[in-house]
Amino acid sequence: MEKAKFSTKSIWAGEKEQLAFGATQVPVVHSVSFGYDDMDEWYEVAIGNKPGHIYGRNTNPTVQAFEEKIRILENADASTSFSTGMAAISNTLSTLLFPGDRVVSIKDTYGGTNKIFTEFLPRQQVEVILCDTGDHEAIEREVARGCKVLYLESPTNPTVKITDIKRMAAAGKAVGATVIVDNTFATPVNQNPLELGADLVIHSATKYLGGHADALGGAVCGDRALVEAIYHYREINGATMDPMAAYLILRGMKTLKLRVDQQNKNAASIAEYLKTFDMVEAVFYPGLEDHPHHDIAKEQMTGFGGMLSFAVRGGVDTVRQLLPKLKYANRAANLGSVETVVGPSRTTSHVECTPAERLAMGIPEGLIRYSAGIEDIDDLKQDLAQAFKAIEAYVKS
Ligand SMILES: *Cc1c(COP(=O)(O)O)cnc(C)c1O
Repeated sequence: MEKAKFSTKSIWAGEKEQLAFGATQVPVVHSVSFGYDDMDEWYEVAIGNKPGHIYGRNTNPTVQAFEEKIRILENADASTSFSTGMAAISNTLSTLLFPGDRVVSIKDTYGGTNKIFTEFLPRQQVEVILCDTGDHEAIEREVARGCKVLYLESPTNPTVKITDIKRMAAAGKAVGATVIVDNTFATPVNQNPLELGADLVIHSATKYLGGHADALGGAVCGDRALVEAIYHYREINGATMDPMAAYLILRGMKTLKLRVDQQNKNAASIAEYLKTFDMVEAVFYPGLEDHPHHDIAKEQMTGFGGMLSFAVRGGVDTVRQLLPKLKYANRAANLGSVETVVGPSRTTSHVECTPAERLAMGIPEGLIRYSAGIEDIDDLKQDLAQAFKAIEAYVKS
């Protein structure tokens, strides 16, 4: 299976081991516990000497199929799963960081991750250093002073900044840090952080992996000893993936490459198209040659992803007028689904910040995050054109 190409793996990996009754599809096993008539066998399974399941908070066949599929797609030694992406992130950080430890990360991590760094870790006496995203020298300087964990995310939310994963992973390794990358935006179709030197890769499976905005989930893949420690933390603390969610995400993952390839193309087209509108002040997309880290993106990604953002003239007022006019877009907080999703950053990813804080992070008040769906590109372009046209008079006056 490891030798097969990407789409073949995403369709077949992890499934065969869990099939039952001659079914060709993985069953959704809702049973909370798994019974044993043989007390010795029960004991052997319970202590991990024999494969099998004991209790749903620990393991479940449907959930195990998901874990195996994402493990193989990320070319990892081991993997485990979580109820949400945030559970994956918080359980991983809680497993690795103790009072007195130091963690280095970037300012532009996902909103929830940023809250862990600014609100929760400091009160556990963990020192958190957040560097300017993309300032590689600053990150290297802080890492060189010593840290337990180097936590990265690339591309970032919402201005799709890029961090050089290979270079940062080397810096982390030099001081013995565990290097973690949130690969949610890129997906394993476009980027493989483990191959770039990371120890662990994290996903919000809620986004591209599931792809249909109908199930929450998270995953961590990478070094076996680290993943086992994180699994142990999760099995005790209880942020377990639900079997029905595992099934929905497994089903979504079979079309991951088809979807992401189309989303890469649609996002690239939309980014170019947006530049032709007077009302658009700036477009952020790593595939654009004028993106400040286009060269790094080209080096470490095989596709530039389905996420972009753009700033409109007239700020919040224009956003308020423009977004309701779009016919083929959900105005919502999620991303990575088959439908196009749009939202103002001040309402979605950075709702916790003040306008001044957002500005300091380089997030204009008129910034719109655009998650390209898999619709026909002509319809998406026409939809933007009619929306801009409909508010033209309003914005000029
Ligand atoms: C959504 C998201 C998360 C959190 O995932 P949930 O499944 O919503 O908990 C983490 N990182 C990134 C980059 C995300 O987009």
